Amino acid sequence: MEIKSEEDIEHLRENALIVSRTLAELAKHVKPGITTGELDKIAEDYIRSEGALPGFKGYNGFPGALCISVNDEVVHGIPGNRVLKNGDIVSVDCGTSKDGYYGDSAYTFSVGEVKPEVRNLLKVTRESLMKGIEAAVAGKRIGDIGSAIQEYVENFGFSVVRDLVGHGIGRHLHEKPDVPNYGKRGTGSKLPEGLTICIEPMINLGTRSVFQNRDGWTIRTADGKPSAHFELTVAVKKEKADVLSTFRYIDEVLGPDHF
Ligand code: MG
Ligand code: MG
Repeated sequence: MEIKSEEDIEHLRENALIVSRTLAELAKHVKPGITTGELDKIAEDYIRSEGALPGFKGYNGFPGALCISVNDEVVHGIPGNRVLKNGDIVSVDCGTSKDGYYGDSAYTFSVGEVKPEVRNLLKVTRESLMKGIEAAVAGKRIGDIGSAIQEYVENFGFSVVRDLVGHGIGRHLHEKPDVPNYGKRGTGSKLPEGLTICIEPMINLGTRSVFQNRDGWTIRTADGKPSAHFELTVAVKKEKADVLSTFRYIDEVLGPDHF
């Protein structure tokens, strides 16, 4: 695990805030009738206007600036001709790179009117991310983050995807350690001050089982039920994590309690 300097953390914060503003720009456009490819173009233009590069484009050959995953798609969906329709939910995962560092955050948006149980999945998943962040304190352990998320969502009858996890971030998009969204309190590596990680619960309405689509990228739920995904980047500190990315700009566009 690499410990970051204050200077590293400020570079990561700059990337994290560009991602945060990009997601808020997208929040204005997520409506029935728009295609996922159009959203991808809006994001790429916006990222470049901020002097950054789309961090996902070309990463392991990924073709988009965004990963866009609709309904039963969990993560890693490829933007294209798919038209969003009323009642869909859409996970938008955005990455940047600037000055040799990366940004990476995600938000799941409602498209028009979404069923109450699915809106609740979104609300609970976002809340679970905040529970995970509360546990990301120096001296605690990786398992404290995962157990906080898992306990919270399982109380609502939702399930935690096991096959994909959060990660360290820095000069590489994915660094050590893995940050699972499940686990046991007091287990795993100790969190050092200055560790920078992406916490990203992927929470399913039904079964936790997932599979990969034949496109080689998109991960989908085994039972076809919806999945939600929220991600923020944090720097581990002594009493409270320093949250580098934010949903504040999205809340300004959509209003508080928009689920
Ligand atoms: Mg991400
Ligand atoms: Mg990530």
